[in-house]
Amino acid sequence: MTRTPVKNLIVKGGRILGVETATGKINADAVINVTGPWANSLLGQNDVPLPITPIRVQMVHLRRPPKLETLEQIIIDYTCGAYYRTDGTPNTLVGGEAPEDMSEIVNPNTFGLNADHDFITRFWNRATKRFPDFVDATCRGGYGSLYDMTPDGNPILDESPNISGLYNVAGFSGHGFKLSPIIGEMVADLVTGQSKSSHDYKFFRSSRFNENSLITPARPYSARVHQ
Ligand SMILES: Cc1cc2nc3c(=O)[nH]c(=O)nc-3n(C[C@H](O)[C@H](O)[C@H](O)COP(=O)(O)OP(=O)(O)OC[C@H]3O[C@@H](n4cnc5c(N)ncnc54)[C@H](O)[C@@H]3O)c2cc1C
Repeated sequence: MTRTPVKNLIVKGGRILGVETATGKINADAVINVTGPWANSLLGQNDVPLPITPIRVQMVHLRRPPKLETLEQIIIDYTCGAYYRTDGTPNTLVGGEAPEDMSEIVNPNTFGLNADHDFITRFWNRATKRFPDFVDATCRGGYGSLYDMTPDGNPILDESPNISGLYNVAGFSGHGFKLSPIIGEMVADLVTGQSKSSHDYKFFRSSRFNENSLITPARPYSARVHQ
């Protein structure tokens, strides 16, 4: 049901009974909280907050000049600190993932939707260092958007320790799109109690943050030193 926000969880005696939406109640034995940067807003007073912080990240749109028309590859440039992709038009989107690009903690309901002027200048400069012909690009502005960051930069897939039947699947920390097929399988296992997926959802348990067993990737993005 699109355009139908969940206003509250219905909880009784430590068990989920459903949700209250803008258009009425929905009874449910299982509720999956997939609200990303809003995950803690949805939990509200019903549960202890998850270690998920909404941060604002920015992107710059550069209309490629004629000499860079064919630059359609996805590129991550650790030296200059920028990544690039096209959006299917002659525009290239430029962003960054160094810690200083990812430290702006925001309210997910009121964050700045436009890219800041100094960010646009900084990233256009970075693009020009790597591809000097970007000096002739047309800047088409940019935008601000959200990452739902966890302390180890990896998601939480777990049942709430306090509310049975409530599952939290959030905190994708800026790389949830590529994980989504296997995450779908793992969440099905989490909710049904089966083990059909080739990967164990317990790897992403929320208690790992208190057990001092943060997820450390074997081959991290070198720019993302917090991982
Ligand atoms: C600039 C940028 C670049 C990215 N690049 C990549 C990339 O290259 N590769 C990659 O894998 N990932 C990338 N990501 C990350 C990826 O987009 C996210 O990890 C992914 O979209 C998270 O999906 P989600 O469904 O968990 O949360 P979201 O996509 O954040 O969806 C949460 C949804 O919950 C809704 N919601 C919130 N509260 C309520 C409520 N009370 N009731 C009902 N609905 C509610 C929101 O409206 C929203 O639609 C990027 C993200 C950004 C911002």
